[in-house]
Amino acid sequence: MLKDSYPLYLANEPVMTDESLKVLDKYSGKVATKVALAGPKEIEAAIQAAHDAAPAMAALKSYQRRAVLEHCVARFRERAEELAEALCIEAGKPIKDSRGEVVRLIETFRVAAAEAERIEGRVLSLDNHERAAAYFGMTKRVPIGPVSLITPFNFPLNLTAHKVAPAIAAGCPFVLKPAEKTPIGALIIGEILAETDLPKGAFSVLTCMVENAGPFTKDDRLKLLSFTGSDKVGWMLKGQAGKKKVVLELGGNAACIVDETADIADAAERIVFGAYYQSGQSCISVQRILAHKDIYADLRQALASKVKDLVAGDPRDEKTFIGPVISEGDGERLKSWIDAAVKGGAKILAGGKRDGVMVDATLLENLPKDCDLYRKEAFGPVAAMEEFADFDEALTRANDSRYGLQAGVFTRDILRAHRAWDRLEVGGVIINDVPSWRVDHMPYGGVKDSGIGREGLTWAIEDMTELRLMVLRRT
Ligand code: NAD
Repeated sequence: MLKDSYPLYLANEPVMTDESLKVLDKYSGKVATKVALAGPKEIEAAIQAAHDAAPAMAALKSYQRRAVLEHCVARFRERAEELAEALCIEAGKPIKDSRGEVVRLIETFRVAAAEAERIEGRVLSLDNHERAAAYFGMTKRVPIGPVSLITPFNFPLNLTAHKVAPAIAAGCPFVLKPAEKTPIGALIIGEILAETDLPKGAFSVLTCMVENAGPFTKDDRLKLLSFTGSDKVGWMLKGQAGKKKVVLELGGNAACIVDETADIADAAERIVFGAYYQSGQSCISVQRILAHKDIYADLRQALASKVKDLVAGDPRDEKTFIGPVISEGDGERLKSWIDAAVKGGAKILAGGKRDGVMVDATLLENLPKDCDLYRKEAFGPVAAMEEFADFDEALTRANDSRYGLQAGVFTRDILRAHRAWDRLEVGGVIINDVPSWRVDHMPYGGVKDSGIGREGLTWAIEDMTELRLMVLRRT
């Protein structure tokens, strides 16, 4: 059950403001709760508080940072079902998947707690020349300072965790702006962080309207912007970020290649999950399925029959696999993209219909290469098959995208696996599984329009810290 209203968190404290934002139950479309909205005054106060808290955060010892993260792990475990139910309502995420996201939230904080103790430096011999014979150096990593965190709607808990947990592990104060469509997860994380003894001002969680969000990107007191969301918004913000470091985790239209050596039943099972899980609203959802001509018909039949069997409906129902998409507008957009593809010559193999926020799990083939479903990010339960004759041609076609987040390759040929790893223009190649495969401590991020930088705790902590060198003369 959701509460009637949720405060924002300003400098570690819950605050109700004069303005609030309604949060909808995404399946019923009814108002589920409301959250306090931050305006320019609260945002300015939060950034100043983060700036002022930077020395105290930097002074925390690793065992203290770890203790904060471990407190969160314990509290997430205690409140797991409440978190899953909130997610199910605010994101329309099927309850089973919502529980899965809570497990990942816990894992992300658990790994961050361990990583907090592994932020290490190096000893450097600098004596490679006579003039430096008496010198050696040491490096350590120091917190970059206050960081700005902006998150998307689709994983309100775990993508918040991917920014908040490394910030705490690294010793950085933060200001977090959750997505307006799904702010509750981040606010509950804020509530739990408020129970810890993080230094005053160390964190703020501020739901706000985008027209007020400028300082999250532009304010020079913030030393890093970590943004996850659409490529359109992400690259625009990078242009406004001034001197700060920028990490962008953006969209994709992931390809999955299945060659003639692959286990077709296994590939079909995994692709259906990777394409339609969470109604395809994942940045690494399978959108383009490239199948070798010798197995194309078998894979098509296996996929089409599985897609038709997916259970759609109320996300609260334990049996539901396909819940709503995030808004009526997205339902409309997806339906118009499907219709345009069909008009251009594509064939529907399963699904194709829409009723409000419920879009059928849809499988197509023969997409025209200039249609939106081929070129853009669908971010919905829609995928399309195409046939190839030669593995290298499949790699070239997989690269025919302005995106490059992850790609999947089903093959039993180790040389092809290496070729895919060499040639695919992506941040990660997943062999014998779908591009949607992820564990939270692996390096994760994209190339091309899909972003810059990597998340995964070790890499996020690296971004949130600076290398500082000390040179020592020993005479
Ligand atoms: P979005 O870009 O619309 O919004 C993301 C965040 O940016 C939200 O908090 C939003 O309020 C904020 N925002 C929007 N305009 C802003 C502005 N002018 N100034 C400051 N903040 C602004 O994205 P979305 O619809 O919430 O999420 C879906 C997108 O996120 C998809 O493209 C998906 O692929 C991508 N995504 C990427 C990853 C990844 O790790 N690469 C993970 C999840 C989602």
